[in-house]
Amino acid sequence: MRKVVVVGGGISGLAAAYQLLTNGYDVSVIEASPAIGGKISTVEIAGVPIDGGPDAFLVREPEMKELCSSLGVADELVAPVSRSAKIWVDGSMQALPKSQFLGIPLDLDELSSLNLISPEGIAIAQNDLTAIDNARDGDETVGSLIRRRLGHEVMEKLVGPLLGGINAGDPDKISLKSGAPYLASAASLDHSLIRSIQKFIRASNRNPETPVFLTHPEGLGTVVDALGKELEGNVILNERIQSVHAKDRQWILEGQKGSYEADSVILATPSYISGSIIETTNGKIANLLSNIKYASMAFALFAFPSKEIRPFDGSGFLVAKSEGLLMTACSWSSSKWKHLGDKEATFVRVSAGRADDDRAFNIDNEELTSTLLKELSQIVDVQATPMDSQVIRWPKSFPQYEIGHSNKVNRIQKLLRDKAPGIFVAGAAFNGLGLSACIRDGKVNAQRAESYLGTVN
Ligand SMILES: Cc1cc2nc3c(=O)[nH]c(=O)nc-3n(C[C@H](O)[C@H](O)[C@H](O)COP(=O)(O)OP(=O)(O)OC[C@H]3O[C@@H](n4cnc5c(N)ncnc54)[C@H](O)[C@@H]3O)c2cc1C
Repeated sequence: MRKVVVVGGGISGLAAAYQLLTNGYDVSVIEASPAIGGKISTVEIAGVPIDGGPDAFLVREPEMKELCSSLGVADELVAPVSRSAKIWVDGSMQALPKSQFLGIPLDLDELSSLNLISPEGIAIAQNDLTAIDNARDGDETVGSLIRRRLGHEVMEKLVGPLLGGINAGDPDKISLKSGAPYLASAASLDHSLIRSIQKFIRASNRNPETPVFLTHPEGLGTVVDALGKELEGNVILNERIQSVHAKDRQWILEGQKGSYEADSVILATPSYISGSIIETTNGKIANLLSNIKYASMAFALFAFPSKEIRPFDGSGFLVAKSEGLLMTACSWSSSKWKHLGDKEATFVRVSAGRADDDRAFNIDNEELTSTLLKELSQIVDVQATPMDSQVIRWPKSFPQYEIGHSNKVNRIQKLLRDKAPGIFVAGAAFNGLGLSACIRDGKVNAQRAESYLGTVN
């Protein structure tokens, strides 16, 4: 039987391995850390499971829900009970417009009634409805689209914080086509951005009752546990792969503890690690992989005594960059999720760090926690001492899809086919970083490995 080795037991690698195993292949997952799951990591705070990585997935992309169905956990999934986020900007907490799409305001009368954008800023945004088509040729950044149609203020106070929060990135550097393909599609129907999105929403005919996000009440680690059971006996933990080279029409992976033979390899590690593993086989591929930039971020998870803290009206808030705070966003988990409400503890997840801001990584956990607590006390008047807290750091964790990203990915794929046939790369660095996109990429590369194995003797 042909042997496939998947390096990296995050959701991309696990999805690839699960498909290969289901299709009857001999597959091993080699994972450097003591547990599978990668960025999916459920921890305990005050005795309650809380996600310390992704805490929900988008329903409009089907792969994560489908995976949950095939693992028998889909019926347990829950939707947020509060969807209304706020934004801390100009030193005050403001509601986001109800009529908005990824932060892009769709009703300028509603926007005028809020205390968020100045009358001058709204007048500039109003031009979008009448101004001529000023589309850029080729790919542009998300920031470029928003600034040229709606102005700088809407970008900096509304869309930037919202979109920047999704990948800890700088929207002025993120490619619209690769980094925000859903927005790129929604923006392609009219030269007025607002009208285009309105048309897109009408055409998609979405039922407003359908939840946008889902999660598992015991944490997304439950999905990883279920995958782990399916893959039992096929996972090697605590083994860090360092290089790969060809020998007698096979690939040999060198780990810290041993060597592993494979007819095909799927590298499902962060791209800079995949780059270092493939270096010995092909320097050009290694360079391209290592050149994909990543942003770092950290979460501080807090459990406050519920008796000593006022409930927050909403699912959480974003913080505009102009405020200069360490905190970039705060998810009020106890308001957002029913299963975390009405408990002795109130759970709050605070984020810090983004593409151009590594301050959270230059201070230790104690200083990070105390600074974030001080900011919480200033912004939302939280004076209580936490019953429990934990800092979870995610260095180099959010790939940044900058202009030219899709060309780079195509070049990597072509070079792999030509120079390292049988080796494939999968994961958040390539075709989307949300959980469903990672699962899709894992499965696409499992399929590529199967096709490759069908062509070699
Ligand atoms: C903090 C945070 C919050 C997020 N929130 C959300 C969210 O709410 N919703 C959503 O849809 N997405 C979210 N994302 C994005 C999503 O979680 C990730 O893009 C996705 O989980 C990445 O999966 P992956 O398998 O590609 O990579 P990873 O999860 O990084 O897995 C790679 C694996 O490779 C292993 N590894 C590394 N080096 C080696 C080696 N040399 N040998 C063997 N193994 C190795 C690592 O230990 C790891 O287990 C979030 C991401 C982060 C970082």
